[in-house]
Order: sequence, then C-alpha cells, then structure tokens
Amino acid sequence: MSNEHDHDHAHDHSHVPPDPALRVQALESLLVKKGLVDPESLNTIIDTYANEVGPKNGARVVAKAWCDPAYRDWLLKDASAAIGSLGYEGRQGEHIVAVENTDTVHNVVVCTLCSCYPWPVLGLPPAWYKSEAYRSRVVREPRAVLEEFGVSLAADVEVRVWDSTSEMRYLVIPQRPAGTEGWSEEDLAALVNRDSMIGTAQPNEVQ
Ligand code: FE
Repeated sequence: MSNEHDHDHAHDHSHVPPDPALRVQALESLLVKKGLVDPESLNTIIDTYANEVGPKNGARVVAKAWCDPAYRDWLLKDASAAIGSLGYEGRQGEHIVAVENTDTVHNVVVCTLCSCYPWPVLGLPPAWYKSEAYRSRVVREPRAVLEEFGVSLAADVEVRVWDSTSEMRYLVIPQRPAGTEGWSEEDLAALVNRDSMIGTAQPNEVQ
C-alpha cells in the first residue's frame, strides 16, 4: 500500500505517532533500550494472553452453552452476567452480547472505529482485527472476507455483522459440531478456537 505519494501526507511528518500502537511501540523500545524490560518475556506474556488465557475463557463459556440449555438462554439474555458467573469479569467485559450461529444465521464481529473486543472471554484482539482492511471490508463484503478466512457459507445463510463499541461487545457462539453428542464440556471447549468466537472461523474439526 505504501508508495511515494504517502509521503506527501502531512501527518506522516508529525513528531508524535498518531496511532496508539506506534506510541506503545515507542514506549516499548525505550523500556527495552533502558534495560527495564526484556523483549522476549514481553512477547511471551502478550502471546500467552492473546492466544491462551483469554480465548480459553470464551471456549468454556461456549462449551457450557452447548451443554446446558438454561445457561445458553441466560447467555443470550444477559451475557455479561452469565459470563461473570464463571468468574470472567474485568475491563472491557461490561455489556457483552452473545450472538448465536445457527443453520440459517452466521454472525461475525468487528469494531469499525477501533478495536473494541470482549477481553475477559477472548483476551487481546489479534492484529488483523485491528487492521483497517478488516474493519472496513467485513462490513462491505462480509462473505468475501469470510471466504478469505476459510469460512464458506451456503447462499441461504444470512450473515450478520456486529459493530462493537465501548458500550457493546460481542461474543459469537459458534454451532456445536456434529458428532459431539455426549462429550464433556472440557472436550467441547477444546474445539472452540478464538476466531470461531469472532465469527471468522468454524470450531475445530472433530477428529
Ligand atoms: Fe473499538
């Protein structure tokens, strides 16, 4: 995307990085340079929180909803309370709304303005979630974007795109895979990957 013309834009010459990510990067560089943090352990912490801790909470919520109809109903009515009952609370966890995929509806979540995301159940948002391309394209052409993520939907499946805000964050409840009757919540939770709770993936294949 970058070309010579980009350099004509005045904001590229600002001394203060306009993007919060760049500011964080600048701070991190400074802390590393001064020997106050070790970049390796910083990466490990971020990676662990983004890929392990966070999404595993959401996976437990989804697995419980698959197994327990009363919990599923509660989750759909008042997701923050139902999620909080499992101990998953905290910043960016207020006003979570759960939306359920069915045979006829597929939900996908975006934050067109920035990167609002339900931290207590999903951890930190992935880089692509924060990207300009995803934020703009998933609204305009959700089916094409989902195809690129490997999610092919039948023509008669309605795609619903949910735009998150600081007031409202969304958790997708993916469809329970066929062939998992009688599975434990723990085994079911292992099928629920992060992106399936954003709507850009299906749950893992049943082996
Ligand atoms: Fe946002």
